[in-house]
Amino acid sequence: MAKRANVMWFRHGLRLHDNPALLEAISDKTEGIALIPLFIFDGESAGTKTVGYNRMSFLLNSLAEIDKQLKAIRGASDIAGKLYLFQGNPTTVFRRLNEYYRLNKICFEQDCEPIWNRRDDSVRALCNDLDIEAVEKVSHTLWDPRTVISTNGGIPPLTYQMFLHTVEIIGAPPRPVEDPEWDGVEFLKLTDNMLMELNAFWQFPTPEDFNIFPDNISYVAKVKWRGGEQQALLHLAERLKVEERAFKNGYYLPNQANPNILESPKSMSAHLRFGCLSVRRFYWSVHDLFKHVQIEAFYHRIHMAGGEHITGQLIWREYFYTMSVNNPYYDRMEGNAICLNIPWAPPNQEQLQSWRSGQTGFPLIDAAMRQLLAEGWLHHTLRNTVATFLTRGALWQSWEHGLRHFLKYLLDADWSVCAGNWMWVSSSAFERLLDSSLVSCPIAFSKRLDPKGEYIRQYVPELAKIPQEYIHEPWRMPQEMQENYECVIGVQYPERIVDLAKVSKRNTLAMQTLRQSLIAGGAPDEGPPHCRPSNEEEVHQFFWLVD
Ligand SMILES: Cc1cc2nc3c(=O)[nH]c(=O)nc-3n(C[C@H](O)[C@H](O)[C@H](O)COP(=O)(O)OP(=O)(O)OC[C@H]3O[C@@H](n4cnc5c(N)ncnc54)[C@H](O)[C@@H]3O)c2cc1C
Repeated sequence: MAKRANVMWFRHGLRLHDNPALLEAISDKTEGIALIPLFIFDGESAGTKTVGYNRMSFLLNSLAEIDKQLKAIRGASDIAGKLYLFQGNPTTVFRRLNEYYRLNKICFEQDCEPIWNRRDDSVRALCNDLDIEAVEKVSHTLWDPRTVISTNGGIPPLTYQMFLHTVEIIGAPPRPVEDPEWDGVEFLKLTDNMLMELNAFWQFPTPEDFNIFPDNISYVAKVKWRGGEQQALLHLAERLKVEERAFKNGYYLPNQANPNILESPKSMSAHLRFGCLSVRRFYWSVHDLFKHVQIEAFYHRIHMAGGEHITGQLIWREYFYTMSVNNPYYDRMEGNAICLNIPWAPPNQEQLQSWRSGQTGFPLIDAAMRQLLAEGWLHHTLRNTVATFLTRGALWQSWEHGLRHFLKYLLDADWSVCAGNWMWVSSSAFERLLDSSLVSCPIAFSKRLDPKGEYIRQYVPELAKIPQEYIHEPWRMPQEMQENYECVIGVQYPERIVDLAKVSKRNTLAMQTLRQSLIAGGAPDEGPPHCRPSNEEEVHQFFWLVD
């Protein structure tokens, strides 16, 4: 009789810790049911439809690490574990595996965004046909978005405050589950014939195997990100030190409080996106740490109040996921109920290309866009700056172009979180007043954020040598100086692609006109009737504005 097996189907959630789907997949070991851990390159899972080089490398690092950890486990029958990598359609892979073995369960972590529904529904239907149990576990988000929606009466909470209120009713998110107990787990060794038939990778692939190559700007990269659980946990330990220092100094959300675009980022977002780090582990580590610091302070007779908002940014992540769950049009303007139809200009391919490649002639924008291409990561405040510049701040191009670029290059790109942020920054949703006066001028902002121009020099080598006085506005350099520094505007460094003063006026007027027309159409005075922040403090928090 064919051996029985459970499949652990990795998609996101690329870790062994806090992995309830994995626990479920090994839970039948006492009944002699073996384990097949696998990942399927189906051209979509884990964002592979749109990935650039860095994102693909990050994914492959993360998979390689699971493989390494599994290989270090000697299972029952002395067969070590391994992560199988297949290429093809999940239903084809599972159907064929079921013919070789008798599949008992297919276990996976919930991917709650609607773009994954077709894939998961077809696997569920197959399981139904073949009498295999499909086990989905929620661990990519703190709360199950579907529970949030049902608790809120069947619709997603339209404001962040409503979201907070709803999750308060549900209660604190679950703590991480225990680590897997490997004793007695049997790993199956798939035969060469089977691997060949199922289009398995014999060696760990590289991005080049998928025809994905680095961009020619990679030489300016300062930080090389590595995916994988071990890296994520090391990164978490570092991050917790930063959090602890902040708590002891009386503030929280340290990445926001002191945006430092030059230091090595302590960001957890890419590890959270691929699930190399469990969001519950992150959430509870920060809360437990705060409690600890609070108790220590109490013994020193220092009163440390609050603590409710110390993971406020993670709640935005939950919020954007939840908002997208029943909205397959969340990534576009047309048909998207929460998105305002702003009359953006028709696509200007020349300007779009300048923006994407960091050739706009505005040093901070160019530095940021090149950092994105080279490293795959950008500080939040720079994401806001370049997104504003593309949309309501300068170019008046639709946020959808920006979203597509970010989804390809950002290591942490989530379909829903990225679209949610783009809608907000462009005033298309989550916006209160369509108030373009909140647009920060990229030149003034550059002077504030990078006073010495160190960040600009790192990512825009053409400007590396020019004096500090001109670093934010190189076009102000006299011609002779431009020649001396080999930075002639229009030759070695591009001319500005727009007249900022002119387009700012045009954009403000366009937003005011839109606002008036919405009010004339029956929208309340305080703003159009789409979802929006609850109050000024939220706007402030989102944009990470200084007081
Ligand atoms: C245009 C634009 C697109 C963005 N796209 C993404 C994206 O695809 N994926 C993504 O994770 N973040 C996105 N962000 C949000 C934010 O910039 C990053 O989460 C943040 O820079 C990550 O850095 P951190 O880990 O140091 O954040 P921290 O401040 O340390 O926050 C901790 C975690 O909370 C979450 N978080 C923080 N800010 C936000 C936010 N505004 N919205 C939702 N979640 C948040 C992230 O998971 C982050 O790792 C985007 C922001 C903008 C303006």
